[in-house]
Amino acid sequence: MRKTILITGGAGFIGSHVVRHFVLKYADYRIINVDALTYAGNLANLHDIEQKENYIFCKADITDKSLIDSLFDQYQPDGVIHLAAESHVDRSITDPLSFVKTNVLGTVNLLEAAKRIWNNDYAGKRFHHISTDEVFGSLGESGLFTETSSYDPHSPYSASKASSDHFVRAYQDTYGLPTVITNCSNNYGPNHFPEKLIPLCIHQIIHNKPIPIYGDGKYTRDWLYVLDHALAIDLVFHQAKDGSSYNVGGFNEWKNIDLVKELCQQMDQKLQRETGSSEKLITYVKDRPGHDLRYAIDASKIKDELGWTPSVTFEEGLSLTIDWFLNNQEWLDQVSSGEYQSYYEKHYGKQ
Ligand code: NAD
Repeated sequence: MRKTILITGGAGFIGSHVVRHFVLKYADYRIINVDALTYAGNLANLHDIEQKENYIFCKADITDKSLIDSLFDQYQPDGVIHLAAESHVDRSITDPLSFVKTNVLGTVNLLEAAKRIWNNDYAGKRFHHISTDEVFGSLGESGLFTETSSYDPHSPYSASKASSDHFVRAYQDTYGLPTVITNCSNNYGPNHFPEKLIPLCIHQIIHNKPIPIYGDGKYTRDWLYVLDHALAIDLVFHQAKDGSSYNVGGFNEWKNIDLVKELCQQMDQKLQRETGSSEKLITYVKDRPGHDLRYAIDASKIKDELGWTPSVTFEEGLSLTIDWFLNNQEWLDQVSSGEYQSYYEKHYGKQ
């Protein structure tokens, strides 16, 4: 029988790559993309696959329990890959409640719906929760997060994601719901919303505007090309043991300031501007409260157990990303102006 996989947050940055990957690779699966289309959801990210026979889009808010229940009744998914979330740390500082609502309540609604329709018959079923390395808090100059690191979230965003991870584990332990969790480092790549560091810098450099850097720029993050994250999710979804979790990272740490300088160099070359002209746009701005110094992931478990490694280096991935943004400036302009939000109405009609 045909498998049905319900993917939440599929119109977002990472979700759109996961949806495309599953729709194209698994023609025998039916992929249901459930997304509320918040400011971060952009269906134009999926225009190339929206006519595929195995793809269905449902506009739905995961905090709406009765709507989620009715979707689970209608589609009877065998698997859930849950990416829908409020995802921007700065927004979580000004509006923590919406993070609690979507990231915690929304996750529990999905767990409840899966538990109800699977009704203790868990053969061939799976709930895969997509989470972040930010749940582990901040590292000093050395050390790496492993799957057994303690949770120590510092921002409302990471606290809400940590809470959702705990609920997922609680459903595994209490009800036997077959779950897996992946905690991934910072993603970058095509379709990345320009409020985040890399696309923001690309946008600012194209338009010769200041590049804002928090504090002294020494914050350190691990970076992963988004398509490599999609491949990791595919492997874990299909091959991991129930109740397991995996850290996913690029083996690739960068201080923000070094990353931005690398990006400036590549942009100067690609735009054929004088060397150093983009770097002149760097502007240091007031630090974010509770800013974590360093995140770094030990991704050796997924490498050793499932054979996953990133397919591109950071420099290659960054070059691919810049090329994508330079070739899709219309996408960047529409997202920056907010025009992308009319895509749903234009293509799916008013609701
Ligand atoms: P994103 O903000 O680009 O996309 C989130 C998507 O979820 C959007 O399409 C939005 O419309 C949808 N959404 C938001 N609230 C919703 C709701 N209440 N109901 C239904 N849909 C809703 O996020 P992203 O960067 O693609 O991240 C996806 C997931 O991966 C998140 O769970 C995030 O915590 C996790 N993650 C992200 C990163 C990263 O670097 N971006 C790293 C590790 C983990």
